[in-house]
Amino acid sequence: MRYRTLGRTGLKVSEIGFGGIPIQRISLEEAGAVINKALDLGINFFDTARGYTDSEEKLGAVLRKRRDGVFIATKSMARTKEEMAADIKKSLETMGLDYIDLYQMHNVKDRESLHQVLGKDGALAALKEARENGLIRHIGVTGHIKSLLIELMKTGEVETVQFPFNPVETNDVREVLEMAGKTDTGVIVMKPLAGGAFKNATLSLRYILEHPVSVVIPGMDSLEQVEENAAVGSGPLQLSSEERIALEEEVARLGTTFCRRCEYCQPCPQGIDIPMVFLLDGYYQRYDLKGWARQRYERMKVKPDACLECGECEERCPYSLPIRRMLKEAHTRLG
Ligand code: SF4
Ligand code: SF4
Repeated sequence: MRYRTLGRTGLKVSEIGFGGIPIQRISLEEAGAVINKALDLGINFFDTARGYTDSEEKLGAVLRKRRDGVFIATKSMARTKEEMAADIKKSLETMGLDYIDLYQMHNVKDRESLHQVLGKDGALAALKEARENGLIRHIGVTGHIKSLLIELMKTGEVETVQFPFNPVETNDVREVLEMAGKTDTGVIVMKPLAGGAFKNATLSLRYILEHPVSVVIPGMDSLEQVEENAAVGSGPLQLSSEERIALEEEVARLGTTFCRRCEYCQPCPQGIDIPMVFLLDGYYQRYDLKGWARQRYERMKVKPDACLECGECEERCPYSLPIRRMLKEAHTRLG
């Protein structure tokens, strides 16, 4: 496994990190095997969040026993000082740790959240206090809106930045990477497979790692995925011309009108789980799992035919997706 420096944190992190969302789907025991495998293959950067149900608990159960040389990152949606201080405490307790290597302000998604976290009684104040007291070692931010992340890096308060980047999601990435370079901010890439839409994981990871990023964190919930992803961290990075063509073909196949599962469109006043509908539709269309996708869809309590066409979701979608039309199409296929 190759290692890169995570900006001015100075941490030497594996090129391939571990995204902690998918382990929510598997048992504690299965998660333990997956996490141990990742460690055995040289992965030393693990990312989770307060909001990922039992992901912190599952990671903590293994990582607190193999703490040396391992870097644990988590994050909280708290916007106030009080809430953030409480969440840091909860993360430490849940994972059974004395300190957390990196604590991130999760999903700073609009100007209001930005002002809140930076304010006198904002989340950042709690993070700085926790860093002074040794409860956390470094402070970072995550989000999808690149202009806000650039603004935060300019304040000099965040040591890392985490955002989605993959071959179909390249908007404003150059600008973020330039600012990260100027401010020596560590770069953590999330959603490297475009929320599961990208089939060829290896090509996508290699494409991302050709850029000046510190670590890319695909989510993993099986030993095979860990092996496949970890192998990228020791194999060749530069894509051959044939591989670049294959990548471009996949980009063209996906187009731009697909859901990245950022969840900004939620909540829908009718209770439609929009990202779940699109996830199942993706399985139906792209993964040859038609029967499985239909079964899961059948079990959804509220289906897209409950849509009132209010349009609120479309106003919130950062990718300007025609959600109402897409929901109708998905319902026709899955219903
Ligand atoms: S347009 Fe339909 S899916 Fe979107 S928020 Fe309104 S009711 Fe929900
Ligand atoms: S529909 Fe848009 S806002 Fe909703 S999860 Fe998908 S990409 Fe995100």
